[in-house]
Amino acid sequence: MADAAKQSRPKGTQDFLPPDSERLLRVETEFRRIAAAFGCREVITPIFEHTEVFVKSSGAASDVVTKEMYSFTDRAGRGLTLRPEGTPGVVRAVLESRYRLPCRLYYVGPFFRYSRPQKGRHRQFHQLGVEVLGEPSPEVDAEVIYLGADFFRSLGIDDCTVHVNSIGCVRCRPAYRQKLVTFLTVHVGELCADCRVRIESNPLRVFDCKNESCRRVVADAPRPRQHLCAECGTNFEMVLAGLTARGLRFELNDRLVRGLDYYNRTTFEYVSGALGAQDSLGGGGRYDYLVGEFGGPDTPGIGFALGLERTIIAAPQAPAPPRRRLAFIVWMSEAELAPARTLLDRLRSQGIAAQIDYGARRAKAQFRSADAADAACCVIVGGDELTRGVYSLKDLVTGEQTEVPADRLVERLRTLLNG
Ligand code: AMP
Repeated sequence: MADAAKQSRPKGTQDFLPPDSERLLRVETEFRRIAAAFGCREVITPIFEHTEVFVKSSGAASDVVTKEMYSFTDRAGRGLTLRPEGTPGVVRAVLESRYRLPCRLYYVGPFFRYSRPQKGRHRQFHQLGVEVLGEPSPEVDAEVIYLGADFFRSLGIDDCTVHVNSIGCVRCRPAYRQKLVTFLTVHVGELCADCRVRIESNPLRVFDCKNESCRRVVADAPRPRQHLCAECGTNFEMVLAGLTARGLRFELNDRLVRGLDYYNRTTFEYVSGALGAQDSLGGGGRYDYLVGEFGGPDTPGIGFALGLERTIIAAPQAPAPPRRRLAFIVWMSEAELAPARTLLDRLRSQGIAAQIDYGARRAKAQFRSADAADAACCVIVGGDELTRGVYSLKDLVTGEQTEVPADRLVERLRTLLNG
């Protein structure tokens, strides 16, 4: 690799410098607020896990496991993987610490998948997720779906459509699966190489294939929702009733299967027209068999993961504030540096963000630093002002400069910075 390439960020990753990083944080904060309102508490798990954790939960044949994982061997020979999704790590953590159930958890953080980068698809991206363990009621499915929709609505994303489906359970899925396999086998010649393998390993995944020919085949394939057992049928009706009761509009999407093996019954996805080809804002479903896969006691689960980068693309941009809530202290000569520093500390201790440039000797250069920092105002500490007990306050948005008595400075700054 050329040296210049090594100094740029790795393919598929992104830098978020201020104010973009702040926008990201604001969206995360909004997610935390809404998740907490639904009773969820934050869980923080490692960014890498034993590879086995993902293989066990996603299935060795899933795309994530076969093609997209960043796996490596550590110095002691352990097989580790940068997490490509959140649910497996959360379930592992809950089981490992014997965390009390039922529990409602949420997480926020980076995830890693080796896929071809494009708009809204990165190799390192961020997800906002919710996992509810130990609550079997279909009312909970509706609540969880509603939580995600509420989050998008609160960000002003109006064109978010919720797709819902049911893929049945251990009782009804085997017969359906057989029917699907029979159908796909008849059409094997029209399927892509990946889907031919999927017929045996994970036939439902054929519904997710983007290949044109595969899409034509599945258009006529038997659908999971038409083969639900009576209990799954009733359960699905109750989920829909819960959504309707909350006034949430949804679309039934009988091709929505989600790519992972551990899902059962309800699957859902949030779709936005603003995103282009990668139109999924997030998705999730019920996974009543996952805890069992991990060797834990039968425990129902439901959750979702939302993509932060896609959320940001879809959300209307709030107008950026013209300046930061930051006061920049300008000192006129060496003699004022000490009182300027004292003022700096006093403002900070009173909760006002303040900054100083120690290095620039000339006031003009300090004003330039104030500008680069996007400060809203400068407080000028000069000999004359100090002896008279006043500061000059320069509003960097309007350019207006006024004198403020020392004992009124904090109050004036509060008004100016919060206005
Ligand atoms: P998934 O677990 O694949 O359903 O992903 C859930 C959500 O995470 C998706 O709907 C996207 O919003 C987001 N996401 C998944 N993969 C990526 C990626 N490679 N880059 C950016 N966002 C992603």
